[in-house]
Amino acid sequence: MNLILLGPPGAGKGTQAVKIVEKYAVPHISTGDIFRKNIKEGTELGKKAQEYMNKGQLVPDDLVIEIATSRLLEEDCKAGFLLDGFPRTVYQAEKLDEFLSANGKKIDCVLDIAVDKDELKERLIGRRVCKSCGAGYHVKNMPPAKEGICDVCGGELYQRADDTEETVVNRISVYEAETMPLVDYYEKAGNIAHIDGAKDLDTVFAGIVSALGE
Ligand code: ADP
Ligand code: ADP
Ligand code: ZN
Repeated sequence: MNLILLGPPGAGKGTQAVKIVEKYAVPHISTGDIFRKNIKEGTELGKKAQEYMNKGQLVPDDLVIEIATSRLLEEDCKAGFLLDGFPRTVYQAEKLDEFLSANGKKIDCVLDIAVDKDELKERLIGRRVCKSCGAGYHVKNMPPAKEGICDVCGGELYQRADDTEETVVNRISVYEAETMPLVDYYEKAGNIAHIDGAKDLDTVFAGIVSALGE
C-alpha cells in the first residue's frame, strides 16, 4: 500500500503514522524527520534545511524531491510506504507522480487530515518530542506519565525550535498557500480520503482504517 498523509502542521500526521505503521506494516517516511536528523548530525543538508525550517518556510523543492525519491528507492519501500509531510507543493506532487510512474507505481490513498486553525496552534505550541526516539506528546492532550520524560524510552522531551507561536502562525499560512492546493490535485486524481482530525486519537485512526480497509 502506497500512502500519503496530507494535512496542516499539527493535524496529527506523525501521531497517526505510528498507528498506521503498526497496523499496515509500511515504512514511515517523514521529510521533516529526515531534515531534523541531518541537523542533529550537522550534515550539509541539515545546514541548508535549518535556515528555512527555523523560519517556518518550506525547504526548496529540488532538495526535498531528491531526498524523498532516493528514500523511496530503498528496499523497505518495495511493498509500500507512508509519506508524511511530502509532497507539500503541487510541483513536488507532480515530480512524485513522474517518479512513481517511471517505477511502475502509484499512490493508493491520500489521507487528508483536517483540523481548524485555533486547534492547530494549540497543538503545535503544546507539542513535545522525545530527543532519543522521536515519540510525540502534548503537554495537555497527551502528557507523558512523568513530566519531561518519554514513556517509551525514558528519553528527555523537548520543544521543537519551530513550535513557537510566531513560527507556527507562519507555517499555517505557508500550508494554506502552498500545500492546500494539493487537496484539489488529489481530488482530481480521485484517490483522496477526508478525515476529521479534530476528534480524539482513536476516532481519527478509526476513520483512517475505514478509508484503507482492514
Ligand atoms: P503533525 O505531524 O501533523 O505536525 P503531530 O502528530 O505531531 O502533528 O501532532 C501535533 C500535536 O498534537 C502533538 O503534540 C500531538 O500529541 C497532538 N495531537 C495529535 N493528535 C491529536 C488528537 N487527535 N487530539 C489532540 N491532540 C492531538
Ligand atoms: P509539521 O508537520 O509540524 O509541519 P514537519 O516535520 O513535517 O512538521 O516539517 C518541518 C519543516 O521541515 C517544515 O516546516 C519545512 O520547513 C520542512 N519540510 C518538511 N517536509 C517538507 C517538504 N515536503 N517540502 C518543503 N519543506 C519541508
Ligand atoms: Zn523516547
